[in-house]
Amino acid sequence: MPLPPVLACAVFDCVYNEGKVCHASAIHVGQEHPTCDTYEKGVGGSEIESPQATVGGCDVLLCRYNNNLSCGAPGVTVDFHENHADCETFVPRQI
Ligand code: SF4
Repeated sequence: MPLPPVLACAVFDCVYNEGKVCHASAIHVGQEHPTCDTYEKGVGGSEIESPQATVGGCDVLLCRYNNNLSCGAPGVTVDFHENHADCETFVPRQI
């Protein structure tokens, strides 16, 4: 199954962000809170690796899109949450 693309990212002060596009080769979303672990504060566009990032892995087991630590969403968006970057596509799993 192809990895879901990062459709947009509003975190302009990340080194991988250029024009609201994430250019990391892949991002990792982490742990209990859907934080983008790949976020690295710096000058946007300075670490461009690929045309568009994908979600390489996700540890957020509480998300309905999480399937064995992989993201099953068709695509994700990332935005600021307080002072860090979060996956905005997160939807709590029904239990
Ligand atoms: S949509 Fe859910 S499973 Fe996919 S990266 Fe975001 S938090 Fe992880």
